[in-house]
Amino acid sequence: MIVSVDEHTFEDQELEQMRFLLLSWFDHAQRDLPWRRTQDPYAIWVSEIMLQQTQVATVHDYYIRWMQRFPDVKSVADASLDDVLLQWSGLGYYRRARFLHKAARHVMEECAGIIPKNAKGLLALPGIGRYTAGAIASIAYNEPAPIVDGNVERILARLRAIDGDPKAAENQKHFWRLANLLVDKARPGDLNQSMMELGATVCTPKKPTCLLCPVRGMCYAHTKGDPLLYPAKVVRKPPVKVRVASVVACAHDKDGARLTLMCKRSAKEGLFAGLFEVPNVSAPGSILDDDLHHMLRSHWQHMFEDATEVLLPATALCSGKVVHRLSHRIMEIDVFYLMLGHTPSFAVIESGLAPFWARDEEIETFGMASVVRKILAHTLWNTPHVTDA
Ligand code: SF4
Repeated sequence: MIVSVDEHTFEDQELEQMRFLLLSWFDHAQRDLPWRRTQDPYAIWVSEIMLQQTQVATVHDYYIRWMQRFPDVKSVADASLDDVLLQWSGLGYYRRARFLHKAARHVMEECAGIIPKNAKGLLALPGIGRYTAGAIASIAYNEPAPIVDGNVERILARLRAIDGDPKAAENQKHFWRLANLLVDKARPGDLNQSMMELGATVCTPKKPTCLLCPVRGMCYAHTKGDPLLYPAKVVRKPPVKVRVASVVACAHDKDGARLTLMCKRSAKEGLFAGLFEVPNVSAPGSILDDDLHHMLRSHWQHMFEDATEVLLPATALCSGKVVHRLSHRIMEIDVFYLMLGHTPSFAVIESGLAPFWARDEEIETFGMASVVRKILAHTLWNTPHVTDA
């Protein structure tokens, strides 16, 4: 079958049939997920932010815990950023949590506590883009607003055999046009969710199960015989390797309880801004071990009032490394473990937050990235060599 450019759209009659098939399928095939049992715009907002770049299975428990701790927008706005980051701890992409917190405060302060009731108003909130605004507006408020995310892109590219990089500006425009045509006027939220569900369970990236697909009779990629050709595979840049060296330093307080030296990144310090961590330095992947360890020693000694009092011996290096993978970088971490006989005084830190000693039970209440939990597991919690995300 040869597909011309004109055929990369939907005819009116096709649209009606496609909506009917998708909605009928969704009515019986949808998974029972906690955020599907509500029309509350706040709950839908939380789920949509969590589901960005994270699988449903991972989000499920985080969502339940989050809604118990923060049942409404006011409770998020009233919470400290530390508390918000603690609840998000381990879910990754912490910018999402920071934006959620900022947007909740915006709703309380600028919108009298009422979440905007349409996609245009939602777009004005920090951290809410076109996709999230469309999802909340269509599901919570029944506005026929389209959505396009990775799942929808893939389904549309296959349905209409659309070539080329799905992220290219022209294709993006085209996907939004198609999604806008497709969205159902009577049940926009369900239609949008049917696309999300189809992409997650049937029209999957590597193994689409076309036999179970409600719209296979209208799918060009299926008719052509090779759905995997769409969307085109684009070679993305490989993740960048980053070297990190960290110190897990412990001492005991007067009651004999273990203390660990912790610090907190400032609110502006990149990827893990506002989160707690152990002292560390990072460098490009090409750095030599000796140079990296020298950087760490120098950073370490600047932390204390009397630099000669606390040396970091080479023998403190734990055997093995902690390796942590993010979508765009691979962190290879050398961990130094040190048990001190006393708690030396810290130097005065002029910028950023000072290091401090924390008991084990306090550490449990800190918002920390998964990588920091791995480092602590590697040392304090005696988990053997941890090598992956
Ligand atoms: Fe995807 Fe196959 Fe359905 Fe086409 S027929 S939309 S390729 S699952």
